[in-house]
Amino acid sequence: MSIAKNIAEFQEKLQNTNCRLIAVSKTQPKEAILEAYQAGQKVFGENKVQELVAKQEALPADIEWHLIGHLQTNKVKYIAPFVHTIQSAESLKLLQEIEKQAAKHDRRINCLLQIYIAEEETKFGLSPEEAKAILQSAEYKAMRHVNIAGVMGIATNTSSETQLRKEFRYLRNCFDQLKAEFFPENAAFKEISMGMSSDYQLAIAEGSTMIRVGSSIFGARNYAI
Ligand SMILES: *Cc1c(COP(=O)(O)O)cnc(C)c1O
Repeated sequence: MSIAKNIAEFQEKLQNTNCRLIAVSKTQPKEAILEAYQAGQKVFGENKVQELVAKQEALPADIEWHLIGHLQTNKVKYIAPFVHTIQSAESLKLLQEIEKQAAKHDRRINCLLQIYIAEEETKFGLSPEEAKAILQSAEYKAMRHVNIAGVMGIATNTSSETQLRKEFRYLRNCFDQLKAEFFPENAAFKEISMGMSSDYQLAIAEGSTMIRVGSSIFGARNYAI
């Protein structure tokens, strides 16, 4: 299957849904991204700052870039000039740095609060209580260049449909609670980023608004490159 064909299939699947495709292009060469772009895909996700910066410089300017991987505070400055959404916001300290760097460029950067939903202990993310504490803080309330646009979660790497549904529902509930408490009148808080190649159908059924799909579009990743 070609990349263009895969993109067309996803576009068809997502027609008439409230869910968008983030094409996860980490480790993929620029040619592969261009092929997806020419098939109409304009939103791409990368998980490493250095790789994201290099690709942004080399590829069309109207691509909407999402950072989906762990972000160190000292690296925010490299992506602040162009990044559309940081999906991996997981501390007040990181949001403060995003605020500072976005202000320098007179931009607002969309951020998703990454919530810990998996059983695995290695995954990054906030508990719902920690997310609430951030949204209640005076530091957050003073921010003018950070737009909290929703939540993101990475489910357990499992084939158990029951487990996956449980985790996606948990994230959906978390979104609903934060929406009701902090953003009742704010239409900008609207995203639930969940679902990858192996589980996106379940994620859409549970209310995902952004699926992050890599290998089902580009094929297997070659980490040796
Ligand atoms: C790599 C990655 C994906 C995409 O994974 P696939 O299984 O290739 O679809 C999604 N989300 C995050 C956070 C990732 O790092």
